[in-house]
Amino acid sequence: MALFRFPGSLERYFTGTGLLNAVEHPDFSLLSHLKNNSLYVHIPFCASKCWYCDFYSMPGVKEEIMEKVCTQIQAELDWYVMNLGVASFATVFIGGGTPSVLPGRILKNLFEKIGKTGKTLEWTVEANPETLDNDFLDICKGSGVTRLSLGVQSFHDELLAGLGRRARHKDIMHAMELLSTGWQGDVSLDLITGIPGQSREILFEDISQAMSCKPGHISMYTLTAEERTVLHDQMAARKITLPARDDEALLWDCAVDFLAQNGYSQYEVSNFCKPGKECLHNLRYWLLKPYCGVGPAAVSTLQGAINNKVLKKTNLECNILRIHNPHSIEDYCMGREENWNRRPEEIRPKEFLLENLMMGLRLASGIPVKEIKSRFGKSLEELLSGLWEKWCGRGYAITDGETLRLTAPGRLILNRLLEEAALAIDDAEEIIIRTWD
Ligand code: SF4
Repeated sequence: MALFRFPGSLERYFTGTGLLNAVEHPDFSLLSHLKNNSLYVHIPFCASKCWYCDFYSMPGVKEEIMEKVCTQIQAELDWYVMNLGVASFATVFIGGGTPSVLPGRILKNLFEKIGKTGKTLEWTVEANPETLDNDFLDICKGSGVTRLSLGVQSFHDELLAGLGRRARHKDIMHAMELLSTGWQGDVSLDLITGIPGQSREILFEDISQAMSCKPGHISMYTLTAEERTVLHDQMAARKITLPARDDEALLWDCAVDFLAQNGYSQYEVSNFCKPGKECLHNLRYWLLKPYCGVGPAAVSTLQGAINNKVLKKTNLECNILRIHNPHSIEDYCMGREENWNRRPEEIRPKEFLLENLMMGLRLASGIPVKEIKSRFGKSLEELLSGLWEKWCGRGYAITDGETLRLTAPGRLILNRLLEEAALAIDDAEEIIIRTWD
């Protein structure tokens, strides 16, 4: 599942300004060999489509199509391993979609392939309660999976029905029972706030029930009505209304306090954990470390040039390439001969700097000072021409010499601060990416 979208108010900085630079007929042979990659695998299938979901996932797909896609995922993985010279991945995350919807035979085959890429620090798999069973757990245990992320969202049947979720309270309790008796690895649970009809009491019950399973990690997202979803249509037809922004914010703050009182610290805007239980894969993602994404609709961000004619590579700078996989099973399954119909995009230095802020400032621990310095050859204070100091003066940001981070009030207005940063970066002199790994 997608973790982060560029806020709509910021997308304009990347359109019509020449910053986006997609190339139609790329030469992929110029990817740099990086030894420190993560792997994301997108499984684009679900049992049914939730009413709020705009992720790329198809409901009710036949087994033979699932097999075809998973065969191509394995082929694309081979391609990355060969072209990047990958010995092993630092972290692995299998998301979607719903990986647990895959038939056991296909899942086992895919996981065996991924397991052969070598030892990893953390291997997460997403699952939904209604498709989590003992066979699924056995395959995960046998393959080296270390962490399961369960999409709960709520424990209340009326709310689950209102979200178009397939699982009900009894399915969730059954899945949690299976996890507590048959799974020794780490567990993360997903919850949603701001569901119509979800009072403060109901939300606290949801959080309490989630905590009763003793997960090391809880992700909590606010319900939003994305375009082209049933929820969006329901809102447009005035059949449903989401809580007012202020009410939602109040509810959110209470939930964050409640989690903190129970030992779950907010290490990222939407993520909470017990000490040492952060999601390593997502930490790497928020710190913009290189990652390969395989499968339909996956995205990779790697070091490399699209081709020498388009990008001039010098010893003093490095180029960053984002590869977008097609949002189409058919296009993706055209396979290696058509390069899986992937579309490369050059990430220019100014854009990369803004992405560093968009992602890293979501973390309570912020961005390491040395990371910015080694990536851009300058301090953030220099790169933002005085803006960072202004934020510090207003109480929105702190620097302690080692990290650059926002305060709690700063994180509350993250999007506004990012808009200010985007303007400062737009106005800045040339920025160069020196190194990235
Ligand atoms: S299970 Fe997850 S990916 Fe699938 S439709 Fe629901 S929210 Fe979307």
